[in-house]
Amino acid sequence: MEAPDTASPPQPLEEQWPRVRATIADATGILVCLDFDGTLAPIVEDPDDAMPTERNQEAVTTLADTPEVTTAVVSGRALSDVRERIDGPSIYAGNHGLELARGGDVTVHPVAREHAARIERLCAVLEVALASVPNCRVENKRLTGTVHFRAVPSAAVPTVRRLTHDIVDSVGGDTLELSPGKQILEIGPDLAWGKGDAVKVVAADEPSETAVIYVGDDVTDESAFRTVEPDGLGIRVGSDEPSNASARVESPAAVADFLSWLGSTAVDLLE
Ligand SMILES: [Mg+2]
Repeated sequence: MEAPDTASPPQPLEEQWPRVRATIADATGILVCLDFDGTLAPIVEDPDDAMPTERNQEAVTTLADTPEVTTAVVSGRALSDVRERIDGPSIYAGNHGLELARGGDVTVHPVAREHAARIERLCAVLEVALASVPNCRVENKRLTGTVHFRAVPSAAVPTVRRLTHDIVDSVGGDTLELSPGKQILEIGPDLAWGKGDAVKVVAADEPSETAVIYVGDDVTDESAFRTVEPDGLGIRVGSDEPSNASARVESPAAVADFLSWLGSTAVDLLE
């Protein structure tokens, strides 16, 4: 979706520690926004099997019970899907922020809603076209669609890419957009709206002295890093390739370390 607009690789979180502490010490509360796949949950071959690590679920539960902290999960999965996978947060954003659940309210981006029928049609065409590719899966997420090719034999991946491109062009015209993820192709409405916009909406409900933290692992998280940095903290999980995040951690296990620290030590640093 949105490429990083800074060229610098994120620094290991432990090297950013003074800044992390200072950011929290200047704040009265914390908004922690978390991607799901690759962040709370290790990436697995079958996306249906993805579950948060036990320690991440525990840490999120603790944060959700901490009055000074608001917890949001911001995922590319459909809202109904991601809600079933992780308990505790008071806020969930699904479909890269196109749908947002806060309290009892669910809001859907109006333009995305208009395109839902076209996504439905597109997914049906893709399913037929890709049916003969071993282990290729088309997921209809109502507002967006995903072609999963993690388990596809590597020789067949170029075919998956080409067919998907051609079909998105012919069914979507200029109303749908194709963007890459980790071993997936995402198809959604061609909208200037992403995870970063969802984070802005959520952050606007918090007091102005709130430290906003975003943790994610993929290209679609870059817009959210851009939203929170430099006043808040963006943490990229995994690689040290250039990112809008200023800090990075290695893995979902390291995310759990950080979230546990947030739920125990960090709240005592708040103003
Ligand atoms: Mg992810």
